[in-house]
Amino acid sequence: MTQPTPSPKKVFIETYGCQMNISDTELILGSLATAGYQSTTRLDEADLILMNTCAVREKAEERVYGRAAQLRRFKNGNPDLIIGITGCMAEHLKEKILDEAPYIDLVVGPDAYRRLPELVGRAGHGDPILDVRLDKGETYEGISPTRSEGVTGWITIQRGCDKFCTFCIVPYTRGRERGTSPREVLRQAHELAEMGFKELTLLGQTVNSYRYEEVDFADLLRTVAQVPGIERIRFTSPYPIDFSDKLIATIAELPNVPDAVHLPLQSGSDRILTEMRRGYTLEEFRVLVHKLRAAMPEVSISTDIIVGFPDETEEDFRATCAALEEFAFDSAFMFAYSEREGTYASKKIPDSISEATKKQRLIEIIAMQERISGERFARQRGRTVEVLVDGPSRRAPEQYFGRARDFKATLFSSPHELKQGTIVQVLVHNTSSHSLFGTLVLDAPIETAACP
Ligand code: SF4
Repeated sequence: MTQPTPSPKKVFIETYGCQMNISDTELILGSLATAGYQSTTRLDEADLILMNTCAVREKAEERVYGRAAQLRRFKNGNPDLIIGITGCMAEHLKEKILDEAPYIDLVVGPDAYRRLPELVGRAGHGDPILDVRLDKGETYEGISPTRSEGVTGWITIQRGCDKFCTFCIVPYTRGRERGTSPREVLRQAHELAEMGFKELTLLGQTVNSYRYEEVDFADLLRTVAQVPGIERIRFTSPYPIDFSDKLIATIAELPNVPDAVHLPLQSGSDRILTEMRRGYTLEEFRVLVHKLRAAMPEVSISTDIIVGFPDETEEDFRATCAALEEFAFDSAFMFAYSEREGTYASKKIPDSISEATKKQRLIEIIAMQERISGERFARQRGRTVEVLVDGPSRRAPEQYFGRARDFKATLFSSPHELKQGTIVQVLVHNTSSHSLFGTLVLDAPIETAACP
């Protein structure tokens, strides 16, 4: 008599934090698939619940503890259920997590995902399992991430960071910088193209400092750009001083690398940039912006800004405001400084700016950037832009949502039903400081998606 086949084990993963973590969740699922695990969106049928966490902000850690306490109740119905914490918080807090939440069975850092099948196999039988070893050689070559839905396929081309900005925890939680081999990057790019993805995003903490033996980031971009079927290649997040002239020329030349660059300035004050250990001055940043705009007159540039860094004077803050006016970024992610335990700043640079001042500076700078973004977006009125369709808009389901080549969010109406992943032309009638609004151009070709 044949034995009934056991049903596959199910894993439920909740992801917190940045795109690197979202991409790591795909990697974790790929790693667990080798042990027969299938992904589920139902907590009540999960054999394994993982929280893939972030450590950049303290609030994120508090949220994870709160959520873990809620998830614990699923052990009542399933005593064999394993609950684990992966990612940066696991690396940052290590065994402290087990003191705070003793019902956690598994704590696994970002360089131990290859061992997850074995670690999960050992978990739940006695003491909790902790594996937070950093491994400066681990790039997860050979593990195929289990791709989630969406219009862009992510490829992690670099792990870790060597920059050690004084406010940042990442070099401590993700270890030293290392590049994935071009062979592996190309393998994944072909895999994604065959699945029907038209857009790839190359991911790394300082993605443009990528190096693997003699291959630099410009070389890698050029190679990936030749993969048939890939129409757009994005990359995030680059670091200002790693934009070589060669890289700028390569981005400008390659037709399937859109003219859109993220360039995190952080502060317009040289004194604060030095305290942050960013490695560039405002003048060096200015030269870079000029080079990018000279090579790509329509380039869209976004940035990151931190206000209220320790000892930031009114004069320093005004320098940041002036930089925003001067560089006229298309958009900006703006934050008030918050001290992160374990960083250089938390040990050596006291958090001297009051919360009220930080808040007031943040409000001011957000208002300023809203106006600037509004002016930048308004330049698109009357133009036709190429849009990669994401699907019906969540807020206005009678409209479609997609991204223009320069990554601007675009809402548009269409008389036809459009599949996710389709590329269309949209005439822009109106704009806000965050979106373009338009209509489908009917006589332009529609490139139908082979939806992943
Ligand atoms: S470049 Fe600086 S801010 Fe970015 S991950 Fe590295 S240390 Fe953090």
